[in-house]
Amino acid sequence: MVLSSTLARKDFKASIDLEDILEKRIVFWRKIYYREKDIRKPYPNLALHHKKHHGSAGYPINIMRPTFTLIDQSDPVYIRTYRMIVRGILDYSVSLMKILMKASGKSLGYRLVDNGDIRSIDDLVDIFFIQRIGLLDIVDESINVMRINLYECMSCYGTRYIGVSLCDFEAGVIEGVLERLYGKNTTIEKYCWGLGYHFCGFESYFE
Ligand SMILES: [Zn+2]
Repeated sequence: MVLSSTLARKDFKASIDLEDILEKRIVFWRKIYYREKDIRKPYPNLALHHKKHHGSAGYPINIMRPTFTLIDQSDPVYIRTYRMIVRGILDYSVSLMKILMKASGKSLGYRLVDNGDIRSIDDLVDIFFIQRIGLLDIVDESINVMRINLYECMSCYGTRYIGVSLCDFEAGVIEGVLERLYGKNTTIEKYCWGLGYHFCGFESYFE
């Protein structure tokens, strides 16, 4: 699979001013990040998730992501299909979902760099958008730690607090890509809709 991110971006630009929309949406979501980032939520708790919510209960499949629906009206249909799959996995085992999704994302991350689809962190932002994973926002690029936010995420947008983070696939992609680009790291999802926030926030710690 070869993704031509530049081409795809140009196609969109022909019909609507995509760059303008994306810029405004990122500003909108950043404000929510600054408002919520220091609010402490109950600590992630797998046991609580099992006891109170029985697998996928509370995991919404009918979601309208504002930015992606504006660009493509079919977005809720694709999201529903994807979430039908995830819901089934959550029903089976939340902890297995977390392990398998992370591994799946990581191998995709490796592949994207090895194939030449991703050559820089900016390509990662493009691919997350083109594949409709979500709006990626690089918040902080320090030497030892990198902070990356994800807005309108396909895996968790619209979920209420269920006591677990849900975006292990996305964390895996980021971890795999950053490993290939910069070196070994551990990427964790600190903020997530599933944890009661209104955005996803990943932190990558480099060895
Ligand atoms: Zn999330």
